[in-house]
Parts: sequence; C-alpha cells; structure tokens
Amino acid sequence: MSQHPLPENLHIDTLAVRAAVDRSQYGENSEALYLTSGYVQPDAETAARRFAGEEEGYTYARLGNPTVTSMEMRLAALEGAEACIATSTGMSAILLMCLGLLKSGDHVICSHSLFGATIKLIGGEFAKFGVQTTFVSQTDVAEWQAAMKPNTRLLFTETPTNPLTEVCDIKALANVAHAGGALLVVDNCFATPILQRPIAMGADLVVHSGTKYLDGQGRVMAGALCGTIALIEDVLGPVMRSAGMTLSPFNAWVVLKGLETLSIRMQAQSQQALLLGQWLEAQPQVARVYYPGLKSHPQHALAMAQQSGLGGAVLSFEVKAPSPEKGRENAFKVMDAMRTVSLCTNLGDVKTLVAHPASTSHGRLTEAQRQVAGIQQSLIRVAVGLEHLDDLKADFLRGLQTL
Ligand SMILES: *Cc1c(COP(=O)(O)O)cnc(C)c1O
Repeated sequence: MSQHPLPENLHIDTLAVRAAVDRSQYGENSEALYLTSGYVQPDAETAARRFAGEEEGYTYARLGNPTVTSMEMRLAALEGAEACIATSTGMSAILLMCLGLLKSGDHVICSHSLFGATIKLIGGEFAKFGVQTTFVSQTDVAEWQAAMKPNTRLLFTETPTNPLTEVCDIKALANVAHAGGALLVVDNCFATPILQRPIAMGADLVVHSGTKYLDGQGRVMAGALCGTIALIEDVLGPVMRSAGMTLSPFNAWVVLKGLETLSIRMQAQSQQALLLGQWLEAQPQVARVYYPGLKSHPQHALAMAQQSGLGGAVLSFEVKAPSPEKGRENAFKVMDAMRTVSLCTNLGDVKTLVAHPASTSHGRLTEAQRQVAGIQQSLIRVAVGLEHLDDLKADFLRGLQTL
C-alpha cells in the first residue's frame, strides 16, 4: 500500500473512512474503482506462481479484485474480524457459508424468526443434501440448548429480526454453541457493526446483506461473511473460487463508499426511529409498536446492552382492527394514503420505506404459520430513513386518519 500505515486503536468512525485505502501510483484520495475481470501478468513464471498460490497477485476477478479487497478489509475492520469475504448478495453469503461448513448428516439450529429466504435455503434446499434443521424460539435460550445434538454443526440467528424486531442474547447462544462443539453465525444486517459487533460477543461468523445499511442508499446488491482467517480464507475462500458468487467491483465500490457514512446514518436513523415509534405508540389508531428502543419492547434491556444503546432503524406497528380481514384492509388504507414515504419491501435506505409483511415478505406462509410467527394482517413495517421527522409524522397521520 502506497501510504503510511494507520495508527493502532482507531475508533470505528475513523476506520469507516480510513481503513483499507489502497492508493494507486496516482495518489487519488477517493478510493479507485478497478473495473477489470482479468489482470496482465508480468511474465509466465509469475503467472504460474500466482495461480499456484505461492505468490500474492491478482489473476482473475472471480478470485479477487482490488476494489473488492478494500471493501472486505474495511468491513472486517468495522466488525473487529480477522477477515471478510464479499459475495454478490446477502443470500449468496449464506449459501457460501452452507457450502463451506455443512455436509450430509450435519444438524443446524436456526431461530424460527429468520429472514424468510434463509429459512427456505437452510431448511429446504439443504434438506435435499441431507442437512437436518431444527427451528427454535428466537428469545428462549433453553430451547436452543435442548435442540443441541452430537452432530450439531451450526447455530444461526439474526438480531433484531424482521419484521418484529425480536432480540436474542448473542453471548448466551455463543456459549451454547461452543459447549456443544458448534459454531454460532449471526446475521448482523439490521444492527450493523455500528450498533453491535457479534464477534466480540463470541460469534464465529457474521453474515451481511450489503444491500441494506452497508450500501445505505438502496443502489446495489451485495453480501459478506466476516470471521477468522482460518474460516474465511482457508475454508470459504476455496469454495468461492469454484462456486463464484463473487461481488462485482462496481458494487463493492458503492458499498465501500457507503461504509464511510454508516455510523452517522445508523445513529441518525435509529434516533429518528425511536421518536417515530414513541409518536406512533401515542396514536389512537395504533394497537401496538414493535421497536427495541421502546420500553414496551419485551427485550428492551437486552437490546440496549447489546446494541450500543440504539434500537436500529426498523420498527413495525399494528393498526387497530376487529378482524384479520379488516386488519389487512386498514393497513392497506394507511399505506396507500401516504405520499412522502415509499411502498417498498427493501430496507436500509435513507428513504423511509413501508411494507405489509403478511402479503409480501411473509405472503407465502399459511395464515396458521403467520399466526405462529406473530405476523398479523394489521402489521406495517417501517424502515426509517432521513427525511425530517415532522414530515414523516405528517405522512403517517395522513395514513392513520383514513381509519
Ligand atoms: C435482505 C436480507 C438478507 C438477504 O440479503 P440479499 O442481499 O437480499 O440477498 C438476509 N438477511 C436479512 C436479515 C435481510 O434483511
């Protein structure tokens, strides 16, 4: 790297803008974007050594690219991890993890509140290859403990969850996993390393959908896994070489620049979500608000201790309704009357987004499964952005006043 090494012990905000800057001979201050799939080799002997892994050096973009490497190193610095491997989407990060760590006959324990596609991938697709999965309560550590078997290889959780913002105790789950010789994997998509650093709490791997807060402005898809060099480079790296769920350099560059503002965005959007949540709780048309920053949240104390005192930027609320049919009708009325926010199932954007989980992200579940998951027809999820709070309140009021 053509620069002075960074001082030790920098704060996370400094790492977000300064870590892994790899300047070219031109001395550019903003990170360069290397849009190239191949690399010219200086001579045939060097090419042979690089392909054999005996010498560092880029050979082909499925195996590595300088822009992707910068993004990986910066995210690793933020997560406090030894290493990171970037992937094309969040789901392909989870696929890479499964391909690298699981084999036929292994057992996995997952929270039943996981992201829907994660449940389908691990519990459905990998069942075809002889991997058995047990789904347990997000919040009851005793259930995780009771589900442990001699062949349990992984415990997989996500905290806070989508859309009900349930929080689990990362340290307690790490202890359960390690006592049984298993690994703990945490999907840190909602909290990001600004609020929560799972590796410092005992997690072995952190999963990210870079599509969400890491990009932060809803532009690109990306994913990543963070952990030890032994897991990332020695176990997952070779799988990536063959399987090829590589992140494009352009998307890596967008995420790399997004990380620079992650800290102020997460703080501002969390603060805004708390104030909006408190306001929603006081509205007569609202039955219940789910947000870890509110005192009414069942795991409020744990969330505040585990998430640097911030609740994150996602909240959900139920509108009042006498029946599920009326609940759906009322939720639709509220969302359709809003004019500032977007009706959009993404999250992690600076634009505030609202969505109706029961008919979109959780639409493929049966009504009975939705009841078990606690997803009511009257539930609206809000991914709070950076608009002025007064304008957001006015827009929600516009919606609520239709009831
Ligand atoms: C969006 C999301 C994913 C999947 O990420 P993609 O980038 O959409 O593939 C995984 N986990 C959580 C918690 C998510 O919100």
